[in-house]
Amino acid sequence: MNIMPDLLKKTKGRVGEIVDSWRDYPDRNDRFSHSALNTFVNICPLQHRFSYIERRKAKTKGPYLAFGSAMDEVWKTFHDTRAKKEVPKRSDLLTTFAKVWAKESRDPLIDWSKKGTREDWAEKGPKVIDKMLDSEPDLEVLDTSVHFVVPIIYSDGTKASERYLCGQMDMVAGVKGKRVIVVDLKTSGSRPPQEKLNQDFQSWVYCYALYCLFPQLRDPDKLSFRYHYYITTKAIQFHAFDVNPWTAQFDRICHIVRVMEAQSESGLVIPRRTGNFFCDGCGYQQACDDWTPTIPMIGETTNDDLS
Ligand code: SF4
Repeated sequence: MNIMPDLLKKTKGRVGEIVDSWRDYPDRNDRFSHSALNTFVNICPLQHRFSYIERRKAKTKGPYLAFGSAMDEVWKTFHDTRAKKEVPKRSDLLTTFAKVWAKESRDPLIDWSKKGTREDWAEKGPKVIDKMLDSEPDLEVLDTSVHFVVPIIYSDGTKASERYLCGQMDMVAGVKGKRVIVVDLKTSGSRPPQEKLNQDFQSWVYCYALYCLFPQLRDPDKLSFRYHYYITTKAIQFHAFDVNPWTAQFDRICHIVRVMEAQSESGLVIPRRTGNFFCDGCGYQQACDDWTPTIPMIGETTNDDLS
């Protein structure tokens, strides 16, 4: 049986939905992304607070974000072309890159002082495109940019939160009508260890979403998640990494969401400053130094106690 044709029909009324755009979802405070979870757990709770609770604008951005956005659009053009049973043309991909890069790289927040100049990054675009034309596996593309919204529920059926998990799958593809692969594009300066990918919240959240959205595919032979990584070293490398959805710890996502909610309600945050590799790329910097908690710590000593 070919499981593909109806797969991406709107799933309203089921556990979770595929929507036209989660960005239109009524209230952004009602949803979490894998990035919010990742920032809270793996980067810094204060950065999470600034970004996702106080909604502060970052003061700087890394150039890799602009480059990643441009390559996302190139990759989408590549696979949308293949979905029409046409062969992607290098010239079209270069045009897409140039157009998006011109816009994204003009962002005044980009800090060009550390990770290469604007020209250095612009030169990587055509090289990645050449690698893409050589390396992308020939998958049956079902759709690109698939947005999802799913509730947050423990495996025993208990609701963990009133909020939802949202995200955008770069591509949903099939293999011989029998197997579905969700693929996410990444560009990076170095090859990530498989263990890091297995533990990354993106794979957990996307696999959890797949689990909710496609209950008929809850079988490792039918459903999997994969990263396509382009490593932007001197000679561009391509690596595909598979993550087995069934090893993701879905209840742990629920639990972390509850901890995040409790912490944001309490206002108690511990910044992870000392030795934090991520401080270097954090867009808030000075704001962190100037920040003081607005809520007294439990058991805080007052001047009266000292007199
Ligand atoms: S500079 Fe470091 S400690 Fe401060 S908010 Fe950013 S990541 Fe957290």
